[in-house]
Amino acid sequence: AQVEQAEFVKSSVETEQCPSDGLPEFALVGRSNVGKSSLLNSLVKRKKLALTSKKPVSVIWRRYAAAPHEVRTDWAKFTKDYFLNRPTLVSVFLLIDASIPAKKIDLEYASWLGQNKIPMTLVFTKCDKRKKKKNGGKKPEENLQDFLELTQKFFQTAPPWIMTSSVTNQGRDEILLHMSQLRNY
Ligand code: GDP
Repeated sequence: AQVEQAEFVKSSVETEQCPSDGLPEFALVGRSNVGKSSLLNSLVKRKKLALTSKKPVSVIWRRYAAAPHEVRTDWAKFTKDYFLNRPTLVSVFLLIDASIPAKKIDLEYASWLGQNKIPMTLVFTKCDKRKKKKNGGKKPEENLQDFLELTQKFFQTAPPWIMTSSVTNQGRDEILLHMSQLRNY
């Protein structure tokens, strides 16, 4: 899978304002500093496509074009409405920092998506930091286990998961392949 074209389309804080062209969409979601813009930039190989933000961001993917959404309002208000009412949404990519122990809010996102049966992919970020013992020294595999245990009870099988690093580009091809497989499904 390759990115042939990437373009910022628009920013919106309401589901109705989102593009209406019916292209398959993927949402990147995760707390501040988890690595959303870095991952997006690594996927499209651009330095400045994603907006950096201090708030959780939902990025809608349209084929391989991406529209970052800076959620300035309550996460619950826009993103939850978007997740529940968007027929073109293929999968929510929940970004989780693999270099630190799972945070409560990450587990809350995961169980909310699970409870609402919203297809999700667990995307672990910053896997290049695994060897450093600071930050609690949790290995990505240990973090993964926490999320798999939490989420698999909501689905028939555990959600797909991908280990990534925006520094080494680990997982980049895997994400693109995963997206192209899901959108053709
Ligand atoms: P966002 O707020 O979720 O968009 O997070 P950013 O993409 O702005 O990243 C937050 C911080 O984490 C920045 O200082 C990045 O350089 C750093 N970061 C992001 N991804 C990685 C990664 O894969 N490895 C490492 N070592 N640092 C990362």
